Amino acid sequence: MKQVRVRFAPSPTGPLHIGGVRTALYNYLFSKKHNGKFILRIEDTDTNRFVPGAEAYIIESFNWLGIQFDEGVSFGGNYGPYRQSERKEIYKLYVKELLDKQLAYIAFDTPEELDTKRAEISNFQYDASTRMQMCNALTLSANEVAQRIANGDNYVVRIKIEPNQDIIVHDTIRGEVKINSSVLDDKVLYKSADELPTYHLANIVDDHLMEITHVIRGEEWLPSAPLHVLLYRYFGWEDTMPQFAHLPLLLKPDGNGKLSKRDGDRLGFPVFPLQWTDPKTGDTSAGYRENGYFPEAVVNFLALLGWNNGTEQELFSLDDLVHEFSLDRVSKSGAKFDYEKGKWFNHTYLIHKTDTELASLFMPIVQAKGHAITEAKLTHIVGLLKERAHFVADLWEQAAFFFEAPTQYDDKAVQKRWKETTASMLAELAVFIQSLPNIDDSTHTEETVKQWVETKGYGLGNVMNPLRLALVGELKGPHIFDITAILGKEETIKRIQKAIDTLG
Ligand code: GLU
Repeated sequence: MKQVRVRFAPSPTGPLHIGGVRTALYNYLFSKKHNGKFILRIEDTDTNRFVPGAEAYIIESFNWLGIQFDEGVSFGGNYGPYRQSERKEIYKLYVKELLDKQLAYIAFDTPEELDTKRAEISNFQYDASTRMQMCNALTLSANEVAQRIANGDNYVVRIKIEPNQDIIVHDTIRGEVKINSSVLDDKVLYKSADELPTYHLANIVDDHLMEITHVIRGEEWLPSAPLHVLLYRYFGWEDTMPQFAHLPLLLKPDGNGKLSKRDGDRLGFPVFPLQWTDPKTGDTSAGYRENGYFPEAVVNFLALLGWNNGTEQELFSLDDLVHEFSLDRVSKSGAKFDYEKGKWFNHTYLIHKTDTELASLFMPIVQAKGHAITEAKLTHIVGLLKERAHFVADLWEQAAFFFEAPTQYDDKAVQKRWKETTASMLAELAVFIQSLPNIDDSTHTEETVKQWVETKGYGLGNVMNPLRLALVGELKGPHIFDITAILGKEETIKRIQKAIDTLG
């Protein structure tokens, strides 16, 4: 079998949408699964839509996600250049070939002339039914065409589509898609104004020259596929035509339709892998990285939006995915973008990290709040709290009371739990804790204190709830004697004293 070669071919028109990331991921998984090559091609022939910084953004995104290319822009390889704007001369040869074979023709119609036609003919389409009324090499004499070109008139090259032919796209996911060529228009393949091909020509020529074996891309490109099939036919490349696989759409979390940036803004989640600042407007859009996602969690989450391995398994490392992935198990129907599920994945990856690793990720946040703590102590703290966090940054909200003594106490809890006898009980407890050699072992402290409460006959709840209020400020947090072990004797007693002074 031929070596599998697939490509991700983004246009640098802005930040990479999360759906594009999934497309790239599926290409990556497919190529690795088959010991193939994964290529990054930058499709920057639409100069009007070019956005500076977008290419670097795309490369950085995959770098962050751990998705590696074998060839392409910034990765090298033997099929370059991989940036289409650097392949101008190559495309010209293929445009000429189609012209020579009379499978394409030159057209001079100006935008104004095209508008006039559109106004004249309803549902105007530049095709076999209209092309003879237009200003092109089929209606002008060879001399006139040569003259216009010599004058420097702008022209385009259009594909000449014969009507009433069946075109069949064989798609791994969708099966056979058959259409009639009459519905297609004579698409522009090349523009003399910038000497650049359009997407369709460049895409086909490059897939051919780069020996691409499978084209795995978003469903939004399915309507272009018949034209692409036709181009392979025109060039005589049917034998090496890549196998198509059009991936299902990512759908809005609620309602119908394609997931858009607006859905993200509306519902408060990112639709881009990295934060992006629009170079023109200065507007910033949130990114998964900056929002605190682990790249492994994002990869795992995206992999399952449109694919599963046929079991209930949800957690997959990148290696697992490579091993398990197959296009046969990609669904035909769109995948609802379940943002809560994305958070769940992050939480799951967070709790699977070692406490030491989490502590080192959390340390800069603690330091930025102006606190110093040993690694060992922070490791202990994150171990107690990680179950409650979706993101490393969430840990601060959970852990803040370890660093900052409460300045106020939850009203409701005070009303319910702080009774008349509470202050004197806690004062006694403070004396008792003071008398203990240390409170480092939470199990031991728990036993000792419980025994003390029992001997006194105060009732466990009457002591423990106010104690928690004194230490945390509210009735939440991990096991109370884990808290005292971390705070230490002195701080514990200080907080009890402060609560007595404040609440009386
Ligand atoms: N340049 C196209 C894009 O931006 C590539 C589509 C394809 O993969 O053929 O997605």
